[in-house]
Amino acid sequence: MTTIFSKIISKEVPADIVYEDEFALAFLDINPVQPGHTLVIPKTPSIDGLVCGPEDLARLIVIGQKVGLALKEVVQCDGINFIMNNGEAAGQEVFHTHLHVIPRFSDDGAFEEPIVGEYEEGEATSLADTLATTIKN
Ligand code: 5GP
Repeated sequence: MTTIFSKIISKEVPADIVYEDEFALAFLDINPVQPGHTLVIPKTPSIDGLVCGPEDLARLIVIGQKVGLALKEVVQCDGINFIMNNGEAAGQEVFHTHLHVIPRFSDDGAFEEPIVGEYEEGEATSLADTLATTIKN
């Protein structure tokens, strides 16, 4: 699938690139949650993190760590969110695997009003047991 990110990789569409190697690219998000908000993407296209190859997926986190450390120095943020939206229901809009690296400041108000749920008695144990036997090695 061709997305806007394929065109950023091929340089048909400009982006503010902060890191590039043979396998991956990192560039500033056009609509940042905070200044410095960066997207890290594999050059090999895959729709999302659930189907991305394990080596590319691992690279995204390692590059995210490098970008996050640089952001702490450059924008002097207090923390960093690594976020990956997988699927439309999870908020994904561009269907090329990407990791958001988002600088956060104490009390910056981003992502306010999180949904906090609760489990019924025994529900968490049962769900964890089912997940544990379903996770594939
Ligand atoms: P998603 O919601 O799919 O996890 O995030 C996609 C992100 O890509 C959004 O934060 C959006 O601002 C960013 N984005 C979409 N189009 C472009 C673009 O053309 N250039 C850049 N730099 N970012 C983009």
